[in-house]
Amino acid sequence: MKNWTSPNRPPLRPVQVPEGIAAEDWESVVWQMQNRITTLEGLARWIEPSAAEARAIEDLARRFRFVITPYYASLMDAKDPECPIRRQVVPSALEGDDPSGLADPLDELAHSPVKNVIRVYPDRIAFCVNNECALYCRFCLRKRMVGETGWSMQKSELETALAWIAGTPEIRDVLLTGGDPLVFSDSRLEWLLERLRAIPHVEIVRLGTRLPVTLPYRITDSLCRMLERYHPIWVNTHFNHPGEITEPAAAACERLLRAGIPVGNQSVLMRGINDDPVVMQSLCEGLVRIRVRPYYCYQAQLLEGTGHFRVPIERGIEIFRGLRGRTSGFAIPQYVLDTPHGKVPLDHPYLHGREGDEMVMEAWDGAVWREPNPIDLT
Ligand SMILES: *Cc1c(COP(=O)(O)O)cnc(C)c1O
Ligand code: SF4
Repeated sequence: MKNWTSPNRPPLRPVQVPEGIAAEDWESVVWQMQNRITTLEGLARWIEPSAAEARAIEDLARRFRFVITPYYASLMDAKDPECPIRRQVVPSALEGDDPSGLADPLDELAHSPVKNVIRVYPDRIAFCVNNECALYCRFCLRKRMVGETGWSMQKSELETALAWIAGTPEIRDVLLTGGDPLVFSDSRLEWLLERLRAIPHVEIVRLGTRLPVTLPYRITDSLCRMLERYHPIWVNTHFNHPGEITEPAAAACERLLRAGIPVGNQSVLMRGINDDPVVMQSLCEGLVRIRVRPYYCYQAQLLEGTGHFRVPIERGIEIFRGLRGRTSGFAIPQYVLDTPHGKVPLDHPYLHGREGDEMVMEAWDGAVWREPNPIDLT
């Protein structure tokens, strides 16, 4: 780990409009949504599915929806089943043998004062406004609800949640998530933002969306013009691999940034996808080059059907320890484990503790530093 070579700095990945598809179709959200891949035959138009993938689609697609946008499919390596983009969305046989997984590892149901509102902190909530996504990630934490009709929100249910927020003055930060809130039409989203902005104690609204990565054409100028009327708005998106940092994805982030919306990134540490120091550094540096700030990297949860993605926490700690000092501080996300009590930072223990009137600590390069440290006797 000490002697990494710096990853090379590839230019933004271009995306070619596939042959036989008109550019205006390819860049149309409606076309992308209507032409999503949901079957083995559909997938075979983009890649050569392995026998194991074909079996998994047959056996597992019903247990958790198998849906991929043509845009995201075009980023997959057609020949390599280990492709880190392919593995995020194509079912794997390994999903079947994960006895330790849970449906709701964060016990979100127990932290839900009203339907689809999750509260683990006094001042802020995750509000699952929508159960639909453009595509479905195999590792999704909200597998139990995304794409499931029981979790969709009727307007009256959104009203109930809005009334709860309005009646709970401690809530100053509302995180709209899902599913994906940007799968909503501009007008439905605007209705929701207008209602939230009418609540005086809601100071900031955050959107958690994977669409800049999975369907970047959704981030239109008209969407951004609407969003900027409801500032302060913050966006967190979800890139997991440097191969997802394409020209259209960068353009989508750029449009949000130009609307004055800070864009952060939350990734999930996953075996074979980004659990490699060079890949992680390349992801983080690629993100800051497009002005997206790495915010969190999550330890993968004990979630049903995702055991094959999980990485030992010690390895995660070493990866992020390795970044410290070797790249811009703001390129390094906080490595966290989400728990029913909130997010727990998983840091290398740089601080060794007090020795007499000194605090003993360790620098990024392993040097031990002793800082004179007053004793507070009051
Ligand atoms: C992650 C999360 C938040 C936001 O946490 P921050 O650390 O402020 O980004 C709020 N509520 C829930 C339920 C969450 O999972
Ligand atoms: S985009 Fe997010 S919410 Fe939707 S399936 Fe992927 S991880 Fe889950």
